Amino acid sequence: MKALIYEGPGRRSWATKPDPVIQDPTDVIVRIDSSTICGTDLHILKGDVPEVEPGTVLGHEAVGTILETGAAVTTLVPGDRVLVSCITSCGRCAFCREGHYGLCTGGGGWIFGHLIDGLQAELARVPFADTSVHKIPDELTDEQVLFLADILPTSFEVGVLNGGVKPGDTVAIVGAGPIGLAAIVTAKLYTPSRIIAIDLSDARLVRALEFGADTIVNNGRVDAVEAVLELTDGLGADVAMEAVGVPETFELCTELIRPGGRLANIGVHGHAAALHLERLWIRDVTVTTGLVDTVTTPRLLRLIAEGRLDATPFATHRFPLGETMAAYDTFAAPEQTGALKVVLEAEPAERGPERLAEPVAAAV
Ligand SMILES: [Zn+2]
Ligand SMILES: [Zn+2]
Repeated sequence: MKALIYEGPGRRSWATKPDPVIQDPTDVIVRIDSSTICGTDLHILKGDVPEVEPGTVLGHEAVGTILETGAAVTTLVPGDRVLVSCITSCGRCAFCREGHYGLCTGGGGWIFGHLIDGLQAELARVPFADTSVHKIPDELTDEQVLFLADILPTSFEVGVLNGGVKPGDTVAIVGAGPIGLAAIVTAKLYTPSRIIAIDLSDARLVRALEFGADTIVNNGRVDAVEAVLELTDGLGADVAMEAVGVPETFELCTELIRPGGRLANIGVHGHAAALHLERLWIRDVTVTTGLVDTVTTPRLLRLIAEGRLDATPFATHRFPLGETMAAYDTFAAPEQTGALKVVLEAEPAERGPERLAEPVAAAV
């Protein structure tokens, strides 16, 4: 098969790798129909995630069709269309038993394109398939559900739910990239009275308005703290979400929240950020962090199926899977290309039952 391979810091290739095979009886083999690229993949390529070994296939978000199932797989059959999520769940460890799949100690968690070969490929081995993939209703397209593999549950769980957004809240979201925009879209499920998007890029702020922000603040030109205080009778936002992952934006969030407010950090940080406890302690502030568990993916899938949530505006560019290298160039230069999420699409000719593995007898 062909796959996007991490060749070490700064280097990637679209190259041939042996087809994946079933290794454990709980595995399935999936033909990738649609995949996408995440900001985390760019971090890996910079060398920021040293546990990713050269030779690993990148990618942790896909929609695919099951070709083959391991002997212990009981709820999936070849031909099933599934969402392969960024988080894998063994279903048995203490963390999985309480829905903290992201913390799985049984071999799951974030493994695709990290600890095992990922999903920017023609084929992929998916461990713990019964408890990790999500069947997709026939009437939904790949693009309608693809972003449930990562950004939507991430922003919903780590931002909106950890931040405890309530009806009528003022929500400030710092960062209007794909994660910040997904936070806007999913915060609206709780009917906040106002969503304030804060970013340094006017182009991203225009997107934020399109995705449902009520007020935009360019904090390169305007003092964001002053702007938020002005909009909230001098109190600050009920909830602030950090959706960038640099110390400055985290520290800004601590200044935006009202006494008793909640700061939900979503960004992936590579450097230490100052936590000004000497100022925060007396203001009853709550700070949360987290990695997505994807425990809300079925809920978000229902909202999409019922037309209450539309993730398709995140898809700004589409490339054939074989042009994943060019897709990376586009995704890595959003200021020039306007890219939010790029969709990697397998050739339609490669889809369909003719490429399925040997059919499995329905009854033995
Ligand atoms: Zn990701
Ligand atoms: Zn587990």
